[in-house]
Amino acid sequence: MERHCIRCGKPICGRADKKFCSDDCRSDYHNEIRRREEKQLRKVNCILSNNWRILAASMREGRSTVSVSELSARDFNFGLFTASSRRFPGKRYFWCYNYAYRISRSGKVHIISRPGP
Ligand SMILES: [Zn+2]
Repeated sequence: MERHCIRCGKPICGRADKKFCSDDCRSDYHNEIRRREEKQLRKVNCILSNNWRILAASMREGRSTVSVSELSARDFNFGLFTASSRRFPGKRYFWCYNYAYRISRSGKVHIISRPGP
């Protein structure tokens, strides 16, 4: 059975476990995967950074309680966080690096922080 390069589709000769027709195709293939992963990571980091800045600004202004709608209006993304934990039964905290928040049933966001490194 003829095998084909997974990068360019050209026929491959040689070892049975070979996946690429050349070193160029192999490195292009892996570079493309790395570029895609880095792009995805940059996107996630951008969202987390924005969330962190919003939480930090609220705390700097002395506001440890804000509304969900206020954060949403500032493009806060509730779908991404760095960790989650339960401090008390039923109270789930979402961490964004050194800040954590929990959302009360009334739609208030309670923010806490722990000292940075
Ligand atoms: Zn190839």
